Amino acid sequence: KLGNATVKAELGRATWKYFHTVMARYPETPTDDQKEALRSYIYLFARLYPCGECAEHFQQHLHKYPPQVSSRNAASGWACFIHNEVNAMLDKPEFDCANLGDFYDCGCSGDEEEGKKAS
Ligand code: FAD
Repeated sequence: KLGNATVKAELGRATWKYFHTVMARYPETPTDDQKEALRSYIYLFARLYPCGECAEHFQQHLHKYPPQVSSRNAASGWACFIHNEVNAMLDKPEFDCANLGDFYDCGCSGDEEEGKKAS
């Protein structure tokens, strides 16, 4: 049981890191196509998340708080908020979303063109 919990937590940490990094790289002014891509991605991510119980909870959170995809700020803020919802559910401390800043850096500053990755 302890082993399972450790593995589940490890998957969670890796996934959150990736999830928030996706948001940090999302365009500041996305096209309609990019907005639709992020929205679809989030719903599919929630459906396909490997921990079934987590996926179920997360889909309930999504139902209550639909993805915000209008800008990078909106998407990052929304992701921070929804992660805090999961934190609250698990009795973990709230993360201060004002501290997001450069916390999630992809190490890919060479990709100059805005929105390149998401297009
Ligand atoms: P994590 O919550 O994994 O966070 C990792 C790091 O991200 C933190 O150390 C902090 O630096 C930063 N961080 C924390 N909060 C935020 C925030 N709001 N915004 C930005 N950065 C932040 N586990 C379960 O037991 N039951 C579940 O139902 C469940 N559902 C999950 C659903 C999803 C979609 C995901 C990705 C994970 C889920 N998990 C669930 C795993 C759980 O959320 C944690 O990842 C795991 O418990 C490890 O927690 P942690 O304390 O190491 O920090």
